[in-house]
Amino acid sequence: MSKGNLRREVKRATQQGLDLLFPPQCAGCKRNGHVLCPACSAAIQPLALPYCRRCGIPMAAGDPCRQCSFRIPALSGVRAYSHFGEPLRSCIYSLKYEGNTRLAQPLGLFLAQAYLYYALQADVIIAVPLDDKRQEQRGYNHAYLLAKVCAAQVHLPLYSTMLVRHRTTVAQVELSASQRHQNVAGAFRCTPAFTTRALLGRRILIIDDVCTTGATLEACAAPLFAAGAREVWALVLARPSSE
Ligand SMILES: [Zn+2]
Ligand SMILES: [Zn+2]
Repeated sequence: MSKGNLRREVKRATQQGLDLLFPPQCAGCKRNGHVLCPACSAAIQPLALPYCRRCGIPMAAGDPCRQCSFRIPALSGVRAYSHFGEPLRSCIYSLKYEGNTRLAQPLGLFLAQAYLYYALQADVIIAVPLDDKRQEQRGYNHAYLLAKVCAAQVHLPLYSTMLVRHRTTVAQVELSASQRHQNVAGAFRCTPAFTTRALLGRRILIIDDVCTTGATLEACAAPLFAAGAREVWALVLARPSSE
């Protein structure tokens, strides 16, 4: 058995043991048996057409997009898999704050489905970085776990060190739209390995859990464009519509 196979085999056996000790509970309905049960999985439906070609918000066909007329996004486009409703909201919460990292698998597959559905074309995938303090507290970056599953599924390289958050920002939840943009502006930079030439002409896809105002994703896109990226797209699980 190769080293890789052995590692996978050990991981699988360990997971089986853990499942026996702590049976997985569905993050949506709390029933035992699955991290996300088939009924809850089926309840997380893809967004219906039509949507704004730029920011990805669902809207009536032919209408100008209110979000984009208010602020022209720097991103090439944002796409979301679903609405920010239940049971997806609980799943995201559980993945992000309750250490339920196994949810990254089913949720990451939703992102891969959306990547294909929207016919996105990227050369590389990255995740929105957490700042060091938050990463240390949680022990993982939920966006990176989602990006890992999605990248493997659509056969794209995943870069974990392209972008760093070099400034701590306050949580966006309590802030207004313009405060959010101010809060994260300039918070991200490319690492030295990804200089101008490294990103020249590349199409980059950034993964995150949700996109509310797009402020964080816009702040991520700025240094990537500055380093020569041709397109920077964002793909998220959900777009909350309460703005
Ligand atoms: Zn369920
Ligand atoms: Zn729009």
